[in-house]
Amino acid sequence: MRRLPQLESRSAVYEDWPARPDDFEAIPLLRDARDRQYTYLRLSVTDRCDLACVYCMPPSGEDEHAIRRDLLSFEEAARVVSVFASAGIRRVRFTGGEPLVRKDIVRLVELVHRRTEVEQLVMTTNATRLSELARPLRNAGLHGVNISIDTLDAGRFSEITRGGDLGRVLAGIHAALDVGLEVKLNTVPLRGRNDDELGRIVDFAWSLGASPRFIELMPLGEGAKLPQSMRMNADDVLEVLGGRVSTEASTGVEGHGPARYMEARNGSGHRVGFITPMSNEFCDTCNRVRVTARGDIRACLASRRAISLRNIMRAGGSDLDLAWAMVWSLSGKDRGHHFLEAAEDEHERVGMSLIGG
Ligand code: SAM
Ligand code: SF4
Repeated sequence: MRRLPQLESRSAVYEDWPARPDDFEAIPLLRDARDRQYTYLRLSVTDRCDLACVYCMPPSGEDEHAIRRDLLSFEEAARVVSVFASAGIRRVRFTGGEPLVRKDIVRLVELVHRRTEVEQLVMTTNATRLSELARPLRNAGLHGVNISIDTLDAGRFSEITRGGDLGRVLAGIHAALDVGLEVKLNTVPLRGRNDDELGRIVDFAWSLGASPRFIELMPLGEGAKLPQSMRMNADDVLEVLGGRVSTEASTGVEGHGPARYMEARNGSGHRVGFITPMSNEFCDTCNRVRVTARGDIRACLASRRAISLRNIMRAGGSDLDLAWAMVWSLSGKDRGHHFLEAAEDEHERVGMSLIGG
């Protein structure tokens, strides 16, 4: 057994893990003991953000961030993606923190696009910098963006994001659409904060030709500190949406991620997505693996097992060593997640911004 060094990262719990067996000669497809095959990588490129959403980041000044040399370099990130692609990953999502605050992010997208066999590169962003970056990102090979927007009211937006400017986000959304990026909108429904405007958000998204998606609040990091009464599950959202969507016409789990989509009742063909980690675990069909900004592979957002791909590379490890770490990390993935246990555990009180949402 090889003991990985204890690192400063509070997002990672390093475990004993077996050294690569000698007979591990080819990179296998990433498949776990429950026969889930992994085709989707969420790659966090920074743990920093220019906003501080109440369920995600502590108020500015209270947060700790990785220093630059802790982060995967662009070369390291492209190498990690390339090994993942050899192991069957087809789609990569850049996330964070806020991916657009990583310096030269366009160059990273371009490098990954040029160096790897990945079929689709997408990004989750708060869009505050998208009006300037949409075109360069599109030219660099980005296919689409999921944009987070929890309210259409400028004052509320500033409250939820602790100082964000809704106008910049709206400009970013339009810029993305103008350059032909596929756009989806992500909203975290919060009782008492935005529950009275969920229908308006749906209408807004549909008016742009984009799908709105509602993500249940997860008790991770800052989200664990919010009162339970603020949480809304998919049924609560459907009740607020009233006649807009047909609950019978669910198209089930589809596409590349865990969202379940329901059709608009008015026959327009529009849809609403629901991401329901709390009320309806989608772990059985999970096809995603995560790499944090510091280069830790995590099989699940709520998983305790993390192995540092960065350390393997910086210690001179080969692509096979990386692939073995990936296989080993996924081999222990549980059937379901452990958000509630993680929320209880002080050591695991890390949020989406650190792991990569
Ligand atoms: N900064 C980018 C953004 O906001 O889109 C990307 C990273 S953010 C962590 C990714 C997604 O996670 C966002 O849609 C955000 O709303 C969501 N998120 C963050 N913390 C959450 C929590 N505790 N529960 C549910 N969703 C959360
Ligand atoms: Fe930043 Fe995204 Fe977290 Fe909001 S959800 S604080 S925009 S990383």
